[in-house]
Amino acid sequence: MQNNPWERAQEQLHAAAKYLTLDPLLKARLENPDRVIEVSLPITMDDGTPRVFEGFRVQHNNIRGPYKGGLRFHPKVDMDEVKALSFWMTMKNAIVDVPFGGGKGGVAVDPKKLSEAELERLTREFARKLAPIIGPELDIPAPDVNTNGKIMNWIREEYARVKGEDAPAVVTGKPLEQGGSEGRPEATGLGGSYALQALMRALGKDPKGMTVAIQGFGNVGSFLAQFLQESGFLIVALSDSKGGIYVPRGIQDLKAVEECKERSGRVAGCYCVGSVCDLTNMESMGGRDISPEEVLTLPVDIVVPAALENAITKENADDIKAGIVLEMANGPTTLEADAMLAKRGVTVIPDILANAGGVAVSYFEWYQNMHGENWHKEDVFRKLKEKMEPASLAVYQASLQYKTSLREAAYIVALKRLAQMS
Ligand code: NAD
Repeated sequence: MQNNPWERAQEQLHAAAKYLTLDPLLKARLENPDRVIEVSLPITMDDGTPRVFEGFRVQHNNIRGPYKGGLRFHPKVDMDEVKALSFWMTMKNAIVDVPFGGGKGGVAVDPKKLSEAELERLTREFARKLAPIIGPELDIPAPDVNTNGKIMNWIREEYARVKGEDAPAVVTGKPLEQGGSEGRPEATGLGGSYALQALMRALGKDPKGMTVAIQGFGNVGSFLAQFLQESGFLIVALSDSKGGIYVPRGIQDLKAVEECKERSGRVAGCYCVGSVCDLTNMESMGGRDISPEEVLTLPVDIVVPAALENAITKENADDIKAGIVLEMANGPTTLEADAMLAKRGVTVIPDILANAGGVAVSYFEWYQNMHGENWHKEDVFRKLKEKMEPASLAVYQASLQYKTSLREAAYIVALKRLAQMS
């Protein structure tokens, strides 16, 4: 059962707790989410037939503030996944030191198989079922896999209808014109690049020319690629669920690849020279197409899983050639794989630190809504840096102090902060 994310989360908690004298009551609270909610969501499909979907919300812990975490629409969503993700949110929010607890939710559905009208009916039904247990000072959902600003706005509208008044801060990740924050789309990728660079400096490594392969070219992967390239890293491989491209000399025009992916629906084949992106450029660029799996095992300095859970398992962990794994996805490495990487001295920058930039800027959005403020993008980026750099250094220093991996160190930092407040 090593791929059960909730069991993995528990093991990670226990591994870190061994280094601390943790209050047994706090440990018990962290092992048991405050509240788990399962709702049925009956809606009318476009053909007039009824269909019932399953929705989940887990409020893991609110020691440090209101529950906070995303909503995911995916066929594989289940209670154990949501519980694990909510636990990781509690840890993440403590690491970047924002006054939130942890929560997560989702609906077991493939949104690509629904019409826009069906998706809206489903979301609004979910929002009505969640309305009694969410709120700006209670539990604040946000986008996650397959959800976005438009979906958040439907939730906000439905919440306002149920409660009789509008409360923009009930959700984050809203479109800019509907109370969202500047810099939120970039936040997770940019935060990952700040964390990586802070740790490179701490480890005395020069990022200039370090090669990077990224699995998952969605919101997180695309912004991370852009910010790392601007900081001197060489992006040599990109992939999505259908495959990808590998150009050992570096992929120069990331914007062109993004536009090509939008047009063709895939990264594979997007060899772009100027505005021309096609396979005829492949040879001149010295590149080749790769499978979604191969991207993780290329001969590069840094690999970045930025897609879904369980990307690095015991099947491929020993094939990873990179010395650094930057975990931008949530839970991309199984327990066994983690141990195998550690044995070979691979540095894993853990998800709960690497991708915490997203929730840091979600906190900024919530704060702006609560105080009627609108910050400039430069201010958001600066404040994000001020969160990610100290968080990265705190994790690095804990790894030296306790002689642990960065993952265990990240949990230690989070647990100590939770212990201070409980
Ligand atoms: P997204 O839906 O925008 O992008 C996901 C990408 O992964 C897509 O390009 C998809 O094609 C690709 N993908 C899916 N399966 C794949 C596979 N088997 N191999 C290669 N690529 C595959 O999602 P996102 O917002 O970029 O999120 C990515 C990950 O980051 C998720 O694990 C999410 O939980 C995590 N995360 C996101 C945020 C955020 O702010 N968006 C914050 C924290 C963590």
